[in-house]
Amino acid sequence: MKVVIVGGVAGGASCAARLRRLDESAEILVVERGPYISYANCGLPYYVGGLIPRESKLVLADAALFRAQLNVEVRTLCEAVSIDPEARTVQLRDVTSGEVTTESYDKLVLSPGASPIRPPLPGIDLPGIFVVRTVPDVHVIREWMEGHVTDPSGLDTYTGSQTVLPARRAVVVGGGFIGLEMAENLVHLGLDVTLVQRGPQLMSPMDPEMARYVERHVARNGVKLALSENVTGFRQAAGTSLEVLTASGKAIPADIVVMGIGVRPEVGLAKTAGLAIGERGGILVDDQMRTSVPDIFAVGDAIEVRDHVTGAQLHVPLAGPANRQGRIAAEVIAGRDSRFRGTQGTAIVGLFGGAAAWTGVSEKTLRRIGDTDYEKIFIYPNSHAGYYPGAQYLAMKILFRKSDGRLLGAQAVGLDGVDKRIDAFAIALQFGATVYDLEEAELTYAPQFGSAKSPVNFAGMVAADVLRGDMPVAHWDDEHPFLLDVRQPAELAVEQVPGVVNIPLPELRGRLDELPRDREIHVICRSGQRAYYATRILLQNGFEARNISGGMLSHATLSAG
Ligand SMILES: Cc1cc2nc3c(=O)[nH]c(=O)nc-3n(C[C@H](O)[C@H](O)[C@H](O)COP(=O)(O)OP(=O)(O)OC[C@H]3O[C@@H](n4cnc5c(N)ncnc54)[C@H](O)[C@@H]3O)c2cc1C
Repeated sequence: MKVVIVGGVAGGASCAARLRRLDESAEILVVERGPYISYANCGLPYYVGGLIPRESKLVLADAALFRAQLNVEVRTLCEAVSIDPEARTVQLRDVTSGEVTTESYDKLVLSPGASPIRPPLPGIDLPGIFVVRTVPDVHVIREWMEGHVTDPSGLDTYTGSQTVLPARRAVVVGGGFIGLEMAENLVHLGLDVTLVQRGPQLMSPMDPEMARYVERHVARNGVKLALSENVTGFRQAAGTSLEVLTASGKAIPADIVVMGIGVRPEVGLAKTAGLAIGERGGILVDDQMRTSVPDIFAVGDAIEVRDHVTGAQLHVPLAGPANRQGRIAAEVIAGRDSRFRGTQGTAIVGLFGGAAAWTGVSEKTLRRIGDTDYEKIFIYPNSHAGYYPGAQYLAMKILFRKSDGRLLGAQAVGLDGVDKRIDAFAIALQFGATVYDLEEAELTYAPQFGSAKSPVNFAGMVAADVLRGDMPVAHWDDEHPFLLDVRQPAELAVEQVPGVVNIPLPELRGRLDELPRDREIHVICRSGQRAYYATRILLQNGFEARNISGGMLSHATLSAG
């Protein structure tokens, strides 16, 4: 059996390696348009920032290693240009010489990835505007920074006539993963970074109130945010400088511009074979990664996937799914009955020492599809035991089914322990766990790592309390018939919501006669914990009461910026 794999990075390389482990006799050829296979795209921003010092560190394996260890032939600088599915052949173009040859296959696997979007805006081709996808891309960014911009220390080579040079300026367009990672790395290099985002929030897979933490954290770390600004073009300014023009009339100066506004599945090759393309622009595959044409498989950023929670078709360009899909395609080709379970979009982005992560569906998505059978909670647990030095609070939002408690999604932002919580939620979600299962999850604990009641247990307990009716919740966007704040007066002096009645929790049992019995009481504290205790007191004394989930900490995320 001869298997040709197009694209030699996440999906393609995984497929080749797995196939060889399952089938010693297969003839495997990997063709890769670029100069490298198996490179770490996810590390590219950190190479720009200098954290990864050498380009060679980004390349995890090369053609010689694939040949020696796996008996896989790799042709780099070789582009697949068209497919003839009837003849089962693929045309290959040598990128250096231009020579085109024809290669036959029994099975063809496409893992061509997705290309960064470069919108056809005026000035988009001016020197100094970059995208980040491949090793050569970051190579030219590094060269540009070294050649056209002043030294990262702020001091150029001393010529006798200069001392401190003006700050260098970067504009990053797009507030997703790549935009944020590039912004952080450029800040680390000492650049003055403005991040321009078309929508009103960063990290669009998150709900806006959770994205608020991301925005504040990156702004605190020196990134100037320009939200709700639509870039309309680029203009050459003095020397090699540019101006980034926005619809609101701004001209933001920049010595370098990085475009990170998203990616589009690479489907040009797939179209030559007449493969079915979905509404999201990706190649359509079944759960065994088979395309609409027999013997052609597709994996990774080029395909559409089924959302594990909603069942909708999505384009989710992430390395984990690409690797798993490459592996599944290999297993199916080798005769196994492996299946892709769909994606939950589980993702994380580092943020100046902190992180934002999520799994499953967002409230935005549930609202968009008209799904009303859900409830949400906001919790702010410590990353580890509060008495042990270094604990940081985590901001977490959990979405779950009102009808049966099934976990639908989780989002978290914080300086510590975000990854392991979202990983636990991700596994629970994939296995269809309910919030009652989360209550019972047995997780690691020692004070420096967590709490005896882990944030994951805690989320389950709070959500289960809501579903069991032990703690009815309300949210800031609800109507509030009567607002009771149970914090201490000193706390209200710092920040309070207009119109609240303040009865500190320790006084509540003695002052119940001050509260109405004809209206629902919505209870507030700082994070929701004391309000929970108060809600329990009120409910057991015959009042109608609800805890405003997340209290004042959630309230603080309602305002922009
Ligand atoms: C800067 C950056 C940071 C990222 N960070 C993360 C992260 O932290 N976490 C995460 O989960 N994901 C991250 N990703 C996304 C992740 O890298 C991709 O989801 C993953 O690499 C997709 O794998 P793939 O095999 O589909 O495509 P790729 O890994 O992009 O590989 C596709 C390869 O196919 C080649 N190719 C395309 N067309 C042809 C053709 N016709 N002939 C021959 N070769 C062809 C391309 O040159 C390319 O090398 C990041 C991506 C980038 C660019």
